[in-house]
Amino acid sequence: MKMGPRTVGSRAHAQVVDWMVGELKSAGWTVEIQETPYNGFKIRNVAGKRGAAKPWIILGAHFDSRLWADQDSDRSKRKSPVPGANDAASGVAVLLELARVLPKDMDKRIELVMLDAEDNGDIPGWNWCLGSEVYASRLAGKPDAVVIIDMIGDADLNIYRERASDQGLTSEIFRTAARLKIPQFINELKYEMDDDHIPFLRRGIRAADLIDFDYPYWHTTADTADKVSAASLQAVGDVLLAWLTEGR
Ligand SMILES: [Zn+2]
Repeated sequence: MKMGPRTVGSRAHAQVVDWMVGELKSAGWTVEIQETPYNGFKIRNVAGKRGAAKPWIILGAHFDSRLWADQDSDRSKRKSPVPGANDAASGVAVLLELARVLPKDMDKRIELVMLDAEDNGDIPGWNWCLGSEVYASRLAGKPDAVVIIDMIGDADLNIYRERASDQGLTSEIFRTAARLKIPQFINELKYEMDDDHIPFLRRGIRAADLIDFDYPYWHTTADTADKVSAASLQAVGDVLLAWLTEGR
């Protein structure tokens, strides 16, 4: 967040890519950067990879900031970038902490992927989920599960089941949350999202989206770090860590 909004092509975007690569490497992950030209810019997905066994699990979060805060109540700010604390530095924070705390000897193949260019839909020349579309299209093989986390840092966190997601995979994660008695996971359907899980689902891959779409600062200049809480990040991190290590 201190580097500034991570809009595609910006200096902060490049700095954050370098920083994420460093964080993954220092936690012992093999890092790959996937670059794709788009609109005269470079879309860059950053993946930390570890393990070769089955199952193959991908956890993803977008790291880019939306170019325009077009939901801002102040009309003069609607062409300003979104700071993107919750949307979606929150997801990246959880993935990088998982990179540090996941056991190194897990009997799974795990990829932690910071996805680029999710958040420019409805802006001329852009679309939603550009990075995840590239990542899904270039997979060599079929992962067993893809879990996307997006907007999971809200201090008032309420994660409902997302309608487009694979419901079996969603149930696995919500069962883990119930077992851990994590109240931020509410086992009821609510929104249907056009998010980074869709490119995977379209290819027949089990994918789920964990998101709290009830966030008053969504796509505004007020999506800043004071709206996000460590307890919310912890809740999501705890559930994912337990889900990943269950039956290990
Ligand atoms: Zn967004």
